[in-house]
Amino acid sequence: MSARLIGITARQTNRERRFGPDAACVRCGIAALETLVPIKRSILESHHICARENDPGLTVPVCRNCHAVLTEGQQAAGVTFTTPPTLLHQIAAALASLFAMLHDLCERGMDWAHQLTILAADLDAAYPEWRDLDSARAIGVTL
Ligand SMILES: [Zn+2]
Repeated sequence: MSARLIGITARQTNRERRFGPDAACVRCGIAALETLVPIKRSILESHHICARENDPGLTVPVCRNCHAVLTEGQQAAGVTFTTPPTLLHQIAAALASLFAMLHDLCERGMDWAHQLTILAADLDAAYPEWRDLDSARAIGVTL
């Protein structure tokens, strides 16, 4: 094995040891750790779902790009990143932050559903027999 391949393998092994074999951004699903930019000794950043000031321990791992998108969504939802003056302010900000993220995830899910619908129509046009495949059968539906 060449020194270059040994280096590549060592870096990949190091990434997997640090983040686990299934590490991925929860928003976009990117799992190719070698494509991500290391940030503060970590490839994935921790997004504070309810904003750090409201719940410092509630985080999810996301890539740098998705973290920027999610943080922008919090700001667009009016979430303030300051210490809440009362419990009511804290809960209101936490909920706005949480639902800003869920809104983003719903939009992404709707995009995926739309793409699947287009793919099914394209398959019908190009390969109509695909519907007869066992793997194409709807779960729990008998015809
Ligand atoms: Zn991402």
